[in-house]
Amino acid sequence: MRVDFNAPVAEIDGVLSVTDDFRLRSALPLFDALTERDATVVACTHFGRPDGRVDERYAVAPLRRCLESLRPEIELMENLRFHPGEEANDAAYGASLVDGFDYYVNEAFGASHRAHASIMVPPTLIPSAAGSNLQREVATLLALLDSPARPFVAVIGGAKVKDKLGIMKVLAEKADVVVVGGGMAYTFAVAEGRRIGTSLFDGSFVDECAALLEGGNVLIPVDAHGLAAGSAFGPDGGADDVVEFGENIPDGFMGLDIGPSSIEIFAAVLSSARTILWNGPMGVFEDPRFGAGTEAIARAIVASSAVSVVGGGDSVAALSSYGLEHDVSFVSTGGGASLELVELGDLPGLRALRESPWN
Ligand code: AMP
Repeated sequence: MRVDFNAPVAEIDGVLSVTDDFRLRSALPLFDALTERDATVVACTHFGRPDGRVDERYAVAPLRRCLESLRPEIELMENLRFHPGEEANDAAYGASLVDGFDYYVNEAFGASHRAHASIMVPPTLIPSAAGSNLQREVATLLALLDSPARPFVAVIGGAKVKDKLGIMKVLAEKADVVVVGGGMAYTFAVAEGRRIGTSLFDGSFVDECAALLEGGNVLIPVDAHGLAAGSAFGPDGGADDVVEFGENIPDGFMGLDIGPSSIEIFAAVLSSARTILWNGPMGVFEDPRFGAGTEAIARAIVASSAVSVVGGGDSVAALSSYGLEHDVSFVSTGGGASLELVELGDLPGLRALRESPWN
């Protein structure tokens, strides 16, 4: 079974340990369904980015210890990315993975946008199936785009406009309103002729942002909280005073969160939504000084009566830090994969399963 056990780890009492076992736990129902049918199940995953070399820092030992405590009967292969054949989608490496096995299951939605060997090759060789979580995740995301209850509001944030422009274009067509926050909002602000100081900005996308704004259903922040350029920000914070800005950010300052008027406007839109898709934080939420926007949006989503789907590692991490992850309709595990599925309507891993000669 290809799983996505790429979980966060940290040293606890001198032992490298999984700090959030959500990804391991989500595979348990399928493990149980298979072992109840007397199958011997061997799982395989990538873990970090060892770049095709054996690198002990990315050995799966901490994942194995965690899995052992949950389901001792399930074996876990060593990190797939220790071999260059994995990311190169090498046929021989893919074949070696399923040598001696009777069936293959892909339960790794979060890795299915990658045409890697463990995703692409097994379905060409042995009878293969989509895992139950993968099926549910795909069905939920596709249904959202196909027949959403309206108003359908998409909230897109995060650092880089480059990563999210593709999905924004699709959502600007499908959703009634697209709310934009985070670092990516400043490229839109420039497209509107505003000043953004030294905030995050990507000049190569100003025209595309301007075109999206012309559609009339893309909302960007009207105020911001931030710092003087050169100040420290991030998980460890800094001592500098937070500055409030309106629509324009003066030279020498940068925006790091949406401000109170933006929160009010965005929350009002979310309160009447019947479908919400959220991907990406509204600010540098890891720094408590700039978490207010992301938290307010998370609370507005939960308070609405909408069907709500939250995707992307950072939005999910933010949601859990407020204890709200059980208060949304669906938490999508695969950040990049959910963006690509919404944008393109398909993933390489799904194609591989569909095209399997046994299916
Ligand atoms: P992404 O991986 O693209 O979803 O981006 C998530 C990251 O965006 C988080 O680590 C945030 O700290 C960061 N981020 C959000 N807003 C801003 C901002 N205004 N300036 C810089 N980084 C930001």
